[in-house]
Amino acid sequence: MILKDSEFGEVVVRKSALAKNIRFSINTSGRLQMSVPNHTSEFLAKRFLNRNRKMIREKLPIKNPAEQRSRDYQKKILAKKAREYLPYRLEYFAKLYGYRYDKVKFSHANTRWGSCTHRKNPNSKQDEITISLNIGLMNVPSVLRDYVIVHELAHINHPDHSKSFWAEVESHDTNYKLHETRLKKFSPGI
Ligand SMILES: [Zn+2]
Repeated sequence: MILKDSEFGEVVVRKSALAKNIRFSINTSGRLQMSVPNHTSEFLAKRFLNRNRKMIREKLPIKNPAEQRSRDYQKKILAKKAREYLPYRLEYFAKLYGYRYDKVKFSHANTRWGSCTHRKNPNSKQDEITISLNIGLMNVPSVLRDYVIVHELAHINHPDHSKSFWAEVESHDTNYKLHETRLKKFSPGI
């Protein structure tokens, strides 16, 4: 549900079975987002928004509606670039180092550059492996992008950050420590 608000622009209302209270946050395009319990009506959501206006104004960095739309547009372009580029780069390193995975996904989380998930497959001995890559990788130097890719590939064999995991990363990227540090200067959000 989207509320059009004269002060905050479009406000995204997300219903969740788990939410017990109404919570405010900012989404990746700079919109105000409300997480509300499943049964919350539009009327109630609006009333809650009105009651919290002052707190929201003071605490949350909401972008103006023009900037919200501009971020949506930037995100769309970035997602397109990511879809056109990242799967090929991932495949390249997977072939080079002999890794097998099943799916590639794209994310736009604010905190993680990538992830590697193993899911038990009842019909096969092999886990189903999904590599997820953040579209924000298109905004970092290519050497750091490659580092994230080999990092996630190494998680196929080591689903942790153990010594043997890092040894495997190092065998593909001898400068991985430097790359890990440099990556901290970037944020995956737009
Ligand atoms: Zn990791």
